[in-house]
Amino acid sequence: MATRLPEAPKVGMVSLGCPKNLVDSERILTKLRSDGYAMSADYAGADVVLVNTCGFLDSAKEESLEAIGEAIAENGRVIVTGCMGKEAEVIRARFPGVLAVSGAQAYEEVVGAVHDAAPMPANAFINLVPESGLKLTPRHYSYLKISEGCNHRCSFCIIPSIRGDLVSRRPDAILREAEKLVEAGTKELLVISQDTSAYGVDIRKEPRMWKGAPVVPHMTDLARELGKIAPWVRLHYVYPYPHVDQVIPLMAEGLVLPYLDIPFQHASPTVLRTMKRPANEAKVLERLKKWRSIAPDITIRSTFVVGFPGETEADFQYLLDWLDEAQLDRVGAFRFEPVEGAAANDLPGAVPEEIKEERYARIMEKTAAISAAKLQAKIGRTLEAIVDEVDGDGANARSQADAPEIDGTVFLRDAGHLKQGDIVKVEIEDADDHDLFGVPVA
Ligand code: SF4
Repeated sequence: MATRLPEAPKVGMVSLGCPKNLVDSERILTKLRSDGYAMSADYAGADVVLVNTCGFLDSAKEESLEAIGEAIAENGRVIVTGCMGKEAEVIRARFPGVLAVSGAQAYEEVVGAVHDAAPMPANAFINLVPESGLKLTPRHYSYLKISEGCNHRCSFCIIPSIRGDLVSRRPDAILREAEKLVEAGTKELLVISQDTSAYGVDIRKEPRMWKGAPVVPHMTDLARELGKIAPWVRLHYVYPYPHVDQVIPLMAEGLVLPYLDIPFQHASPTVLRTMKRPANEAKVLERLKKWRSIAPDITIRSTFVVGFPGETEADFQYLLDWLDEAQLDRVGAFRFEPVEGAAANDLPGAVPEEIKEERYARIMEKTAAISAAKLQAKIGRTLEAIVDEVDGDGANARSQADAPEIDGTVFLRDAGHLKQGDIVKVEIEDADDHDLFGVPVA
């Protein structure tokens, strides 16, 4: 017998105003069509009606309000977008029943509002792309990008010249994506950006409604909301600005994993100055102590560059001494390489390759010793771990201190009954420089 496909929801569109608005309407409809929605030529056949408004002149605003009124009267399920979205309160005062209001070019938001108002039935024949999007990671963890670009100008980096200044995504769009990922099986969200702690500086005055309450576009507020959605939330690329202190209590509460990936890159004040690093301030060691007093299990991961132009033996020794004090849990190191277009290429004092190699070996030796000691201290403890892969009777898992691909593994024995994505308690039995060995606790 032939499979009967569920009917796709139908969307009606009223597009007002100038050609730019028309192009926006086309873009929204193209996205909805590729999501599997059908179009309706009349109000009666539509499951939801989009009104793309114009707000250029008073007469255009009045025409937009009349169009919304007509759509409400004829259909009742109406989403408003376009230039008049700036005056959401005027629209809501006159038509309290509108389902959502968004501004011009808010494609992600308006498409999200349609998905909420008229969800696509789950069906493998018509949903070519799952709601959570296509992923290159396993189902149980997903990267979540919260902004693009960067406002800093680190002298070794060309990202701002390629991607431009920081542009933050709206918090409600991020939270909606997070929710869809979790519904599709994600247990661990890996928050990424070029500069996670700067999230929202460009849209700070634009809180957005999420589940009936406003969310301010700020790292702390976003992290708290993400913590309510996903079992594990891990923050990457965090610079130690003062407001990062506010995230640590969320770790103590269990909302966010006690893990911060902070690319310090160096410790010597002279090198940091020539690198033009953000949040380059002397009190980092004190703050690390304070963070550990609030969230004792916090893991700090970082990366460092050795052999940066002008780095002297004294600068490098300063870095090694600083690492002794800082006791970072996870460290990656790179030998400086000039990148075409980076300002650092013109700095004097190039470090010879053999010295770079020698410093690289020294920093790796130092950080491996710190890591080994920290992992030894975990033997005998019971930790939470997420299962990445089950193979016969064993499994590879990660503790809260291990981000996928970059940190260590918890190798489990007697774990054949577990499945990928399970979050389980494990007893740690042994450790080496970077990995742990253990057994699931019944
Ligand atoms: S290295 Fe510096 S300039 Fe480059 S993305 Fe990171 S903070 Fe921005």
